[in-house]
Amino acid sequence: MIKSCIFCNEKVIYNKFFYKERQDLAERFKNILDVSLKIFTCENCQFSYCPDVSKKDLDKFYAEFYINKIERNQNRFVEFNSRFFTQVNYYINHCKLNKGLRILEVGPNQQGILPSIKIFQNKVTYFYYDQIDINSKHDDVHKLGSYWDPHKDKLPEIDLIWMSHSLEHIHPLDLDQTIKSFYNALAKNGRIFIEIPNDIANLEFLLPHVLFFKKEGLIKLFQNHGFKVVAISSINEKNDTIEKNKPTKISDENNNSNFFLKTYLFIQKFLPDRLVKKFAFSHFVKNGPYTSLPIIRMIVEK
Ligand SMILES: [Zn+2]
Repeated sequence: MIKSCIFCNEKVIYNKFFYKERQDLAERFKNILDVSLKIFTCENCQFSYCPDVSKKDLDKFYAEFYINKIERNQNRFVEFNSRFFTQVNYYINHCKLNKGLRILEVGPNQQGILPSIKIFQNKVTYFYYDQIDINSKHDDVHKLGSYWDPHKDKLPEIDLIWMSHSLEHIHPLDLDQTIKSFYNALAKNGRIFIEIPNDIANLEFLLPHVLFFKKEGLIKLFQNHGFKVVAISSINEKNDTIEKNKPTKISDENNNSNFFLKTYLFIQKFLPDRLVKKFAFSHFVKNGPYTSLPIIRMIVEK
């Protein structure tokens, strides 16, 4: 079936990718996560999207999903969380974390990027919006709201926008206005850090993801909005030799590491800082990036 692209008006197709049912959430959210929704692919824009999902349903999903997700056993030295620590390392390999930086994080969940940024730059002002409150003992942390509507709400002036696994959740009808608002809110040479799962390389399409990019489409989108690309990397793509040689018994591995993690989270409470910090850091170094799934990282600049 052919339809016009909501971004560029070119003819697009919608039978290239299909949503898969989520084993974990299908029962709980069966009225919201409708896998018969179509994913459109535009060869001109070079990305795929699901425009017909209702914004109301998505909001309902997020509101319910996060309510019961508060973890009791929190890791000490959360700044070494390998997702956020590797992201900040990636960022400082390409850009400076200047004193006085005003940072906006989109959907940090309970932790977000702030603790890892604080290792390298303590003097920052941090803004965020999310349905839940972040767990933070730092100063100068400002929640802008639980939801931000790019068509109505204004942002403060910002130097850096952090989007870790949030871009793929933005409703396609809000995408253009969101990037425009980000551009306008950013100071001169302001930057955006983006990390998204590479669902196209992984051939896994799950709601509530509604935007799907390859590197090319992501670059084109941000260039069209006036940004220049500072860095882009595709990590763990399927044709990676490391990936090919990996054992396929993923479920066993996960069970073992879950057990290990739970034991660790319990024991760490009774150990001295010195030992826990050493362990948290060496565990990260040994294990490298936090995931073996394909992801894309990008930094763009105004
Ligand atoms: Zn298009």
